[in-house]
Amino acid sequence: MIRLFNQIILFFVPFLPKFFVSLIAGKYVAGETKDEALRHVKSLNEKGFSATIDILGEHVQDKEKAKRVSKSYLDLYDEINNRNLDCNVSIKPTHIGLGLDPKTFDSNLSSLVQKAKEYNNFLRIDMENSPYTDSTIEAFKNSSETYNLVGTVFQAYLYRTENDIESLSNDGFNFRLCKGIYHEDPDIAIQNRDDINKNFLKVLKLAFNNGAYVGIATHDLKLLEDVYSLIRDDKIDRSQFEFQVLYGVPMSGWLEKHLENGYKVRVYVPFGPEWYEYSIRRLKENPNIVGYVLSNFLRKK
Ligand SMILES: Cc1cc2nc3c(=O)[nH]c(=O)nc-3n(C[C@H](O)[C@H](O)[C@H](O)COP(=O)(O)OP(=O)(O)OC[C@H]3O[C@@H](n4cnc5c(N)ncnc54)[C@H](O)[C@@H]3O)c2cc1C
Repeated sequence: MIRLFNQIILFFVPFLPKFFVSLIAGKYVAGETKDEALRHVKSLNEKGFSATIDILGEHVQDKEKAKRVSKSYLDLYDEINNRNLDCNVSIKPTHIGLGLDPKTFDSNLSSLVQKAKEYNNFLRIDMENSPYTDSTIEAFKNSSETYNLVGTVFQAYLYRTENDIESLSNDGFNFRLCKGIYHEDPDIAIQNRDDINKNFLKVLKLAFNNGAYVGIATHDLKLLEDVYSLIRDDKIDRSQFEFQVLYGVPMSGWLEKHLENGYKVRVYVPFGPEWYEYSIRRLKENPNIVGYVLSNFLRKK
């Protein structure tokens, strides 16, 4: 029954009124402005959580826009430092020019790496869909002399991920491990959810064995049970990992549990005027949200 309801919702997603999507955005997006987002970060810090902040948007169409986005990220680093926040920065490569021309992207990325270095902060290069995997890893490798200030993301659904991790592991690098959010071809990506989870655990174990620092990014509670077993059985020190979640996703007490165990938890805080596309993506991932939003809305009436 729920499955059918979700399929109906998915069908109607493109026709949802913007007003309704804005109710969803209110839950998953930390505002439109830098100021609003940093206030959320402060409040998360006060509750014991670290944060990573992201300006919503991707696939910029011209160099000037890519430069403006990069400048906004540079300003964010300044503000994070001024406000003494426990917060680093996550960028989507195509938002700062990947896919436009290599020079623009390299120069924007390099200015961000320099800024992260200046404040002894950190830059996370998010992973987008497969046409960008090689160039994202390449960009990450090119920042290799600042490994501890730059990290990237690997997706457990890609068959190639195990090899990618193997080829980088000796450098003690920092990456986020997630399942992967894009629709990828069966030739290159595992489609079955249980198999993706198996690969997630396999890759995580490999990374720990090779001394990597891993941001374990999942809301899948069953997978988290298995991650906890792996950490316990392999006696993984808490200095080798942190847990990461998206702002607003309910975790049934697991965030508190992580903190009680002395584990670091980092919340991914997206903000900006381009909230519509992001909220639609959240909705497609979890059509149940429509039900939550509707019932909250009706309760308030
Ligand atoms: C901090 C962080 C950073 C990420 N960065 C990237 C990246 O760079 N590249 C990339 O490809 N993917 C990224 N992702 C997304 C990731 O790949 C998954 O698509 C997403 O997290 C859902 O997978 P899951 O592991 O949470 O498990 P799932 O099995 O998909 O979800 C587990 C449960 O959580 C609920 N849930 C999951 N996600 C949401 C949501 N967004 N809203 C509401 N409920 C939800 C589901 O309903 C389900 O019940 C990131 C995820 C996180 C947490």
